[in-house]
Amino acid sequence: TSAQCGFIGLGNMGGFMANNLLASGTSVAAFDLSQASLDAVASAGGVPVTSVADLKDCETIITMLPSSPHVEETVGTLLDAGWKGKLFIDSSTIDPITSKSLAGKLQSSGIGAIDAPVSGGVKGAEAGTLTFMVGGSSSDLEAARPHLEVMGANVIHCGDNGAGQSTKLCNNLAMGIQMVGVVEAINMGTKLGLDAKTLASVMNTSTSRCWSSENYNPFPGVCENVPASRDYNNGFGVSLMLKDLKLATHAAGSVRSPTPLGNLTKEIYAMCEDQGMGEKDFGVVIDFLNQKK
Ligand code: NAD
Repeated sequence: TSAQCGFIGLGNMGGFMANNLLASGTSVAAFDLSQASLDAVASAGGVPVTSVADLKDCETIITMLPSSPHVEETVGTLLDAGWKGKLFIDSSTIDPITSKSLAGKLQSSGIGAIDAPVSGGVKGAEAGTLTFMVGGSSSDLEAARPHLEVMGANVIHCGDNGAGQSTKLCNNLAMGIQMVGVVEAINMGTKLGLDAKTLASVMNTSTSRCWSSENYNPFPGVCENVPASRDYNNGFGVSLMLKDLKLATHAAGSVRSPTPLGNLTKEIYAMCEDQGMGEKDFGVVIDFLNQKK
């Protein structure tokens, strides 16, 4: 098919992102391994295809896949299929070094490439308010911008290829560590007899304030409409946080940047996953500390 955009990876994030492209009037052909997501994109007006190679006539291809190996394989398949498009946009969170090397391969085939991982979660994907952290040339970014602005509210140029991924990993490294810190404090406070809401309101007007304390508090009932207040369901899963911490500590290791707390936090999330909490929101680490499943 010769749709303007080929979209690969219609999961929790990609499904909504493809819908927003379609709603803006962009023609979209899409591929995923899951038939259910192909059916969903078809009912939103997209063209489902049965292989990556079927997208070889698309001008732009966007990927929203789980991790590095999936994106590597997809780029290999596209190039083998003779894709001669203009622009490759990878919005998955992957290893920055892999991202940079894939961009190099695409560029040597005459195709522009940017890494454009996102923050904003599934809610942001649905509402079209994602933040894109972009690595690549200004001209490739400008070519991508009309698509990115349909799927997101903020587009930030972070540097050359790979810089978007590096930025995303720095953010999530700090976020993972901060969550565990907030959990330890609020768990201790409530055990000392404090009221969780009062404690949070003091923290949030004091020096320990952060996103996990203020907007996404891990103690049930402190914030409304967050995973902690619905048994840690439908949030940012432990397995995804673990994936990002593995990528972050690996990237840090490659430049000999020490991440002692990152490593410890990664181990904590690995233990949560081993205890069957992989699908639960990453605030569930409070239950892990209390050995409450
Ligand atoms: P997901 O697991 O829901 O979706 C991934 C999709 O890719 C699935 O539909 C799967 O069937 C498909 N897929 C896997 N291998 C494939 C292949 N070889 N070819 C075609 N399709 C394939 O994941 P998600 O939550 O949508 O996340 C996607 C990416 O975005 C990840 O890199 C994640 O780290 C990142 N991210 C997620 C969130 C979030 O809150 N979920 C937030 C920011 C960034």
